[in-house]
Amino acid sequence: MSKTDSVPTDDYPKENPEGWVYVVGADRNNPHECKAHVYAGPSYGDLRGPLCGYGWNRSDGGAFSILRNNGSSRGVCETCRKREKAGAGPVPPWPHKTRWL
Ligand SMILES: [Zn+2]
Repeated sequence: MSKTDSVPTDDYPKENPEGWVYVVGADRNNPHECKAHVYAGPSYGDLRGPLCGYGWNRSDGGAFSILRNNGSSRGVCETCRKREKAGAGPVPPWPHKTRWL
């Protein structure tokens, strides 16, 4: 599979009763380098952040850049899925080393 092949995400986007819209996002630089994370916001066009800290994949954890509605050949992050099942919203930016600026 080439790094630009997209992985279908038939389950997404979806919405919960609290109004969060959940979208799967693959890393923009290399979608298959790591698992895709789940991002949430009040609408598809206004995603506020990921459901786990690793979804903050840019600028040492201060930002994210994703291929919206695209998955990864490595699947979707378990932590994000658990938090999504619990109806959670996005987590705050989490400072950590990221591969991409
Ligand atoms: Zn995650």
